[in-house]
Amino acid sequence: MLPKAVVTNGHTEHSTTAANEPNVPPEKWQQKRLVRQKEKLRSNLLKSGFQFLDRFVELLKEMEDVPKDTKKKYLQKMLHAIFFFGQIHVTPIEPREFLPESHQDTFRCLYLAPFQQCTTHLPTKTPYSILLDYVTEVKRFTTPQELMSFLQSFNAQLWNQSLEEPHALNATEFTFTASVIACCFYSDPQGGTDLHHFYGASLSCKGLHERRIMIELSSIKTWHKAMAYAVHHGDTGLAITFPEGMWSQAFQFNVEEQKYQEKSPCGKCQQMFRNVNFWPPPNTPATGDKWQYGNCAEVESLSKLLLGTRVVEEGVRSTRTPPLPNSYEAIERDFTNSIEEDIKKSLINRLRSRQFKAKTLQFFNLQ
Ligand SMILES: [Zn+2]
Repeated sequence: MLPKAVVTNGHTEHSTTAANEPNVPPEKWQQKRLVRQKEKLRSNLLKSGFQFLDRFVELLKEMEDVPKDTKKKYLQKMLHAIFFFGQIHVTPIEPREFLPESHQDTFRCLYLAPFQQCTTHLPTKTPYSILLDYVTEVKRFTTPQELMSFLQSFNAQLWNQSLEEPHALNATEFTFTASVIACCFYSDPQGGTDLHHFYGASLSCKGLHERRIMIELSSIKTWHKAMAYAVHHGDTGLAITFPEGMWSQAFQFNVEEQKYQEKSPCGKCQQMFRNVNFWPPPNTPATGDKWQYGNCAEVESLSKLLLGTRVVEEGVRSTRTPPLPNSYEAIERDFTNSIEEDIKKSLINRLRSRQFKAKTLQFFNLQ
């Protein structure tokens, strides 16, 4: 475990209110409140990054039979993603601030690329999705419940460890946990498939701007283009239809009970992803969901399935009328020719507005 001292990192908690500062004029008080709110957000991000790295390093140590190169690859991805969120924060956080002073030089020496590239290269995923990729690569989960139980224990240790700290975060303040995990598989109606499960996490970052950045960069880099197409058209009602045999199940983390519990799909996922057997079944009528298109865990899991299952990829269609030529390649072409460029421009503008040096879009890529 990394030394604890850094968690407090000079941040003090403020609890001042208008009631205990009666002589401060309202506009001054409002200004002070905003400054404190900003400080709190920055401090939460810093502590979340520290706690998450601490727990992830522990997890890597616990898994003794995993090859060192695999661990190093994932640790570097994790460091880079967390440093990146520090970089694009409204008041940027330097990479070394996420580490205890005693480890800063060693980490920089061992893992130079994340330190150098967090100001120029983008991550492809949020920290919790990187964790999910790691554990599903190195551990064989035979059922979604096994994975949920593993993640519950990971989360519990994340919080328990933080409880020892005077200024530690609770589950709701934490920046990098995914509230929902989705699992999907394809069951060939003709039979004969191995029902490989694909897992995805909801976007594990806080802030409207940050989420939009992750959705845009996922659209141009991480997700299958048919998913990016559906997410892009979420507002217009255009959607994609999957071939017969698709199943999707989601689990939401219940903070009070510290457990993942089954969750029905949101109205947006039902609208964007047609002909999927969701479990538990959708609520009727569908609720008005406030989050952005692309935020849900289903997007990542269905995208992984599309990227890994040729027969499903070939069976995906758009609901556009008159229809695109009847093939999945037509969806990809439509996305590449008329949508992708605008997303790239928007992403570059968003990054620039947060002091990120993005002349061109480059992604963190380990050789
Ligand atoms: Zn959804």
